Amino acid sequence: MAAQLADEVQFIKGVGPRWSERLANLDIKTVADLLYYFPREYEDRSQITEIRFASPGQTATFKAKVIKIDYHRIRNNFDILKISFSDDTGVINGVWFNQSYLRDKFNEGEYYLLSGKISEKNWRKYKSKDINNPVYEKLTDQNSVLNTGRIVPVYPLTEGINQRRLRKVIANALKKYLPLVKEILPDYILEKHKFPDLKTAILGMHYPKNFTHQNRSRQRLAFQEFLIFQLYSLAEKKAMAAQTGIQHKYQENQINQFLAELDFELTSAQKRVWQEIRQDMESNRIMARLLQGDVGSGKTVIAALSLLETVANGYQGIFMAPTEILAEQHYLNFKELFSDFAINIELITGSLKAAARKEVESGIKDSTIDLIIGTHALFQDKLEYYNPGLVVIDEQHRFGVEQRHTLKEKGNNPDLLIMTATPIPRSMAMLLYGDLDLSIIDELPPGRKRIATFWRRKNRRKKIYQFLLTKLAAGRQIYIVCPLIEPSEELPDLKSAEQLYQELVKGIFNDYQVALIHSSIKSAEKKEIMEKFRQGKIQVLIATTVIEVGVDVSNATIMVIENAERFGLAQLHQLRGRVGRGSKQSFCILISDAQGQEAKQRLDIMVKTNDGFKIAEADLELRGPGEFFGTRQHGIADLKVANLMTDHDLLAKSRQEAAALLDNNNWQNKYPRLAERVKKLEVKV
Ligand code: ADP
Ligand code: MG
Repeated sequence: MAAQLADEVQFIKGVGPRWSERLANLDIKTVADLLYYFPREYEDRSQITEIRFASPGQTATFKAKVIKIDYHRIRNNFDILKISFSDDTGVINGVWFNQSYLRDKFNEGEYYLLSGKISEKNWRKYKSKDINNPVYEKLTDQNSVLNTGRIVPVYPLTEGINQRRLRKVIANALKKYLPLVKEILPDYILEKHKFPDLKTAILGMHYPKNFTHQNRSRQRLAFQEFLIFQLYSLAEKKAMAAQTGIQHKYQENQINQFLAELDFELTSAQKRVWQEIRQDMESNRIMARLLQGDVGSGKTVIAALSLLETVANGYQGIFMAPTEILAEQHYLNFKELFSDFAINIELITGSLKAAARKEVESGIKDSTIDLIIGTHALFQDKLEYYNPGLVVIDEQHRFGVEQRHTLKEKGNNPDLLIMTATPIPRSMAMLLYGDLDLSIIDELPPGRKRIATFWRRKNRRKKIYQFLLTKLAAGRQIYIVCPLIEPSEELPDLKSAEQLYQELVKGIFNDYQVALIHSSIKSAEKKEIMEKFRQGKIQVLIATTVIEVGVDVSNATIMVIENAERFGLAQLHQLRGRVGRGSKQSFCILISDAQGQEAKQRLDIMVKTNDGFKIAEADLELRGPGEFFGTRQHGIADLKVANLMTDHDLLAKSRQEAAALLDNNNWQNKYPRLAERVKKLEVKV
């Protein structure tokens, strides 16, 4: 059978069954996988130094011939192999401990390349130039050296895979299979951007001639990754744009009435995004819009306006929240916001009893219900909507896109508004959500005070509680968030909500109502607790992260986070966003004995800034895009070479080229290999 890139790796010289298995641990199964397994860095061993110029402490590469082999067994379990090399300008020794088997690899009179650091100690002691454990390679033909005497690739490894052998295996793969690699990018794009062809680029990633070669290769491959991503999302966007959606008519009277009844005026950012949404809703295209706004920026009222518009047009509005508590909150919130409108609102969650559910279901089907609030339960197969006009999805970015497909299959083409408090930089949003239009609320309602944030060690607990008592006495309410529900034997240092509740309810907060809330408390009870907290009948809420997003009680002005080092930046920011929701001064106290560098940095950032954008950027930097976005969800794992943080130029170029390609209806026939890559991504995203 003719060799092909889809061959299993064991077809490569040097790869037996054992190595196949180990390579599989690195997700390398086919030859193509291996060719696209790129180095994480390079070592420049391309400059050859004359031995006479080598100074102690210097790291360098030498080309020299073996003049002497010395082997000493010092003790039973300790031996030294010392090989002397000469390049006619001087002598240098390679020294190996307990590696006697290397004796056979060297022959007197033969030439080798040798890299490493010249020992300072041996120079002081013996005035000899020695390298301990040098990298070496026999010099047969200059072109075949892999480990030294050139720019050397350094690959990420796993157990049982070593650098030297992997370099050899990849070199073997390149020799046999690189000629089979076929270009996937159009020629005109290569020419225009002066990109190397695919073969040159793959070679340039593994065994570059020089750093320019490596750099151009990386750029080309990064561009390619971006382009494939963009082609996918822009095609999606185009397909949506080609379909006819619902054309809402502006319901001026009701909208004006709603705005007049609000006890605040929209910020100018809110006004702007509302116009953007209106324009989409009033066009006959399908809206697919991402609304980005920091916690507390007032996204809910924008959702309400949009939902009112659809309902007033005679369609059903659907609002999906990520958790039951939030669905419940929004339900109450919307009931209040729409109390003067003849809008029939229902809540549908997983914990609804069968009979009640049936009733809601039929109300949805026959359109007696206008506005449906719920969790994922909103999109189960059984539910039939009468005529949905708008779906709003809170904090579930990708999910929103999936739902759009589900609804489309059901024959509906409602508008879609996805809301997120994750303030990702615009260029990244363009890549990740290229199929969505973007609206940003970049302003908080007036009068908001910065949430004063403190990081305190555990031994300051007494002081902290005294502070809390003064705030309680002033009529404020408090959240205390713990990382665990109940004490854990494995994690004895972590505060659990139950334990803290026991300590506080009869202790220092004896005079106040203290409640416990976490995910294993029954829905009905949770609901009651939240309602009481909202009414101020409970003053202290001891919770887990169930209250992470969306809870909105403006008299609650203090957030205490136990073991704050356990939480990620995004989570801390979300949690803190539960306070500072009115004009009263709010506080956030991070309790932590953090030791690790990264944890300390996180806490410092929280103390320093309230700005969600800055926090997101820091988070990205600390964790990298993969962790930040959750790789699987976004196909970011396919960005092996491209760097979302630094490759802005390439990203912009790829977007232009993707748009230009899509303008040509025939691009998939003209560039079938590119089209195939895009298809593969589609399956994953
Ligand atoms: P988020 O964007 O985090 O979902 P919310 O929509 O929950 O924020 O709004 C936070 C709080 O700010 C709510 O109590 C809301 O009533 C209030 N709010 C929203 N817009 C304004 C505004 N323009 N002026 C004053 N308060 C506002
Ligand atoms: Mg919200």
